[in-house]
Amino acid sequence: MQAEVNQELCISCGACIDVCPEVFDWNDEEKAHAIMEEVPDELGSQASEAAESCPTDAILIN
Ligand code: SF4
Repeated sequence: MQAEVNQELCISCGACIDVCPEVFDWNDEEKAHAIMEEVPDELGSQASEAAESCPTDAILIN
């Protein structure tokens, strides 16, 4: 599983980082980004929950 944050859509609300800090963190532009390329299976549901919590649907999980 991979997670990606669309930088154009991220409004820096912090929800994804609250829900799943193992996968999402702030970048230098103060937007969220995925800090790992491949999300391990054990974090899959948490990463999906983070995507669902995003108010702008900026997180793509595939
Ligand atoms: S939840 Fe969405 S809008 Fe909020 S910081 Fe994360 S990616 Fe950005």
